[in-house]
Amino acid sequence: MTSGKRSNTKKILIIEDEPNIRELVLYNLKTGGYEGIAAEDGIAGITMVQREKPDLILLDIMLPGKTGYEICRELREEGNETPIIMLTAKTEESDKVTGLECGADDYISKPFGIRELMARIKAVLRRYEVTSEAGGARDTVIAADDIVMNVERHEVLVAGRPVELTLREFELLRYLIENRGRVFSREQLLHNVWGINYAGETRTVDVHIRHLRQKLADGDNEEKYIQTIRGKGYKVR
Ligand code: CA
Repeated sequence: MTSGKRSNTKKILIIEDEPNIRELVLYNLKTGGYEGIAAEDGIAGITMVQREKPDLILLDIMLPGKTGYEICRELREEGNETPIIMLTAKTEESDKVTGLECGADDYISKPFGIRELMARIKAVLRRYEVTSEAGGARDTVIAADDIVMNVERHEVLVAGRPVELTLREFELLRYLIENRGRVFSREQLLHNVWGINYAGETRTVDVHIRHLRQKLADGDNEEKYIQTIRGKGYKVR
């Protein structure tokens, strides 16, 4: 389906008040084959989104006029679904969570490497194209580290590699990622993911965690994504 497609050159808007970052990103967007445009404050940013209809927005958080969170929330509230990558100055988890909660698609922490930024742009654009070609409905996409889960499509990518999960493994991973940073006991997981209140079945959880780890790790360190907290349970960082 190509009806909704625009020309092949993607237009990317960066809303950022630091001239150095703005110029660096604009330069690299151009080199990378994108059309880059820029706004230096929140108000101009919103206007530019409406006028230029970019394919993707790189959005700084601390901006004069309006914050990145406000911009993000406003756009989503008015039904604008342009993919947004937040540029977070701090690395605190709370910034990232707030960014994703306000409707951003991804975030990248400053200072970022330009290669990482370009890779994120590419990934978000690809993800977005796949979902819009499927009929426009925006799928629920959740992510942690380099795991990306598409809930509606029951798809999991680990660093771009598709991973086949059973329904239960999928639900378990989804639960851990949606609550990432929190430690869950086997009993809690059994209750919250399986809906079982019988503690005698906790071995089921271990078996599923083991399979999940093997599939995600692909020969790599198996505890990379799901950590065991001794005496407590499991968590995703
Ligand atoms: Ca700033």
